Amino acid sequence: MMARMACRAATSGEQRQLQRRSWRLAGVFAVTVSLAATKRGLMTTNALSSSPNKIAVIGGGASGIFASIAAAECAEGPIKVVVLEATGKTLSKVKISGGGRCNVLHDTSKSTQTILAGYPRGQKELNGLYHKRFTPAMARDWFELRGVELKVEEDGRMFPITDSSQTIIDTLMDAARDAGVDVRLKQKVDSVDVIDSAGKRNDSEEDCPTTTFTINYKDGGQENFSSVILATGSTPAGHVLAKSFGHDQLVKPVPSLFTLNLKHAVSNEDGFLHGLSGLSVPTGRITLKVDSPPPSATNKDSGSPEGKKKRKKKAQQIIQEGPILITHHGISGPATLRLSAFAAREFRDINYRGEVTVNWDIAASSMETSNSEQVLDELWKVTFTNPKRSVASLCPLSKNSIPRRLWQALVLHSGFTADDKWGSASKKSVRKLAQNLVACPLEITSKGTFKEEFVTAGGVDLKEINMKTMESKVCPGLFLCGEVINVDGVTGGFNFMNCWSTGFVAGESSSSRTSSLL
Ligand SMILES: Cc1cc2nc3c(=O)[nH]c(=O)nc-3n(C[C@H](O)[C@H](O)[C@H](O)COP(=O)(O)OP(=O)(O)OC[C@H]3O[C@@H](n4cnc5c(N)ncnc54)[C@H](O)[C@@H]3O)c2cc1C
Repeated sequence: MMARMACRAATSGEQRQLQRRSWRLAGVFAVTVSLAATKRGLMTTNALSSSPNKIAVIGGGASGIFASIAAAECAEGPIKVVVLEATGKTLSKVKISGGGRCNVLHDTSKSTQTILAGYPRGQKELNGLYHKRFTPAMARDWFELRGVELKVEEDGRMFPITDSSQTIIDTLMDAARDAGVDVRLKQKVDSVDVIDSAGKRNDSEEDCPTTTFTINYKDGGQENFSSVILATGSTPAGHVLAKSFGHDQLVKPVPSLFTLNLKHAVSNEDGFLHGLSGLSVPTGRITLKVDSPPPSATNKDSGSPEGKKKRKKKAQQIIQEGPILITHHGISGPATLRLSAFAAREFRDINYRGEVTVNWDIAASSMETSNSEQVLDELWKVTFTNPKRSVASLCPLSKNSIPRRLWQALVLHSGFTADDKWGSASKKSVRKLAQNLVACPLEITSKGTFKEEFVTAGGVDLKEINMKTMESKVCPGLFLCGEVINVDGVTGGFNFMNCWSTGFVAGESSSSRTSSLL
């Protein structure tokens, strides 16, 4: 730990550059490494002597590049860090992120607990990393120290003041270059052989502290590394690699952060929300009711009383609140996107078809989701106080923020005509209107895309990772970071924060491991 602290303290650019220059001057890299290691009496096997002290970072996305910088900057000795990127470009998702502006972080002045609440998966496991190891404030400082000025928008999203993702790309790539990272493009990793200390392929699950790796490239080449950082995002090729390292129980990947298409209510010309695209409500609530899974899908004892009790407990509602936006195809906006993230798996289970209910204005009443009694009272009162006003022209809810055209659509949808007066409204139709205001059923017909950001839920199970070091528990010497692990956040800068924090710790820990082998 002290050594690591020292590594951080000594990360002054000049010192690092001098160190690196002296290592390069020392001659052929591999030779330098074996001499240093033999001196310490540590490299006693064929495997290690044939494996130079190189760290491979597989994947040149946000997490991989960040990890590579941390690994190179924290290196205590002549360690070479190589990024292997399959495509012709690094950071391609950063480029298109946040609509081209790159929502690089979420408001770092918020409490860590609030930030952690933005992760449907990973909330608990990221706790230590976000509180101590590489916090949101440290991520902000990292960018600011390198000259990136950041701004916070009203909804908590942080962007570079240039409003250009290129600023973030340039900063990361400059830092990688300054740290001496070797970035190789069009270098697809096909497979990796895990080699044990006797120089043999290690196909067993036995723990081997001096494991090394032979990377087999798609073009047929091979290269040895002492540590590997897997940063392949949600790509299927990366999942295949993760399995080959022994992480064979991947949490099934499913999409997260999507909009909801409502063919009948919005796209069809006679849909009651048709033509309202662009309207939004500031304080809505969307609820997805999740049925208990069928008996066969859960416990073996599901037929027993205990089994039934367990199943009953699982029946739940997934609820998200916030602005809801009506689009050409359905609904979007923060509440919808948060629901798609927190219910990513449940939506997949119903094949993105089913029903959600919407409360269009939770600020207008302090009611529970399905209780329309308070709204009903308010609506009923107006039948006496304003009997001559048409229902379509007067929304009596206090603090009402439902746009006029949406109110009219809800009134017609509840069975009123455009001219019906409050005074002639029947209790039944008023009740129906109250119901449509607080728990309006909407039929989801498919999943849409949210162009500003989307991620995959699932990946390498966090139980198989030491979340203090990001080292794999099943394959020593393998470190994981970014979207390849089962962490994903809601929209707002949470997903990149995962890349910065897990990337930094994976880089630092791999460097520390590799240094200890010198
Ligand atoms: C359109 C869009 C907008 C987004 N906007 C935001 C935003 O504003 N804020 C935010 O926080 N998040 C945003 N996200 C999410 C964020 O971009 C991702 O969570 C993040 O980029 C994941 O980074 P990563 O490094 O883990 O994976 P990736 O960025 O996917 O990088 C993985 C890399 O690994 C490479 N690779 C895969 N397999 C191999 C192999 N076998 N050999 C070599 N290389 C390989 C891939 O080519 C790729 O370059 C957005 C996502 C999308 C799609």
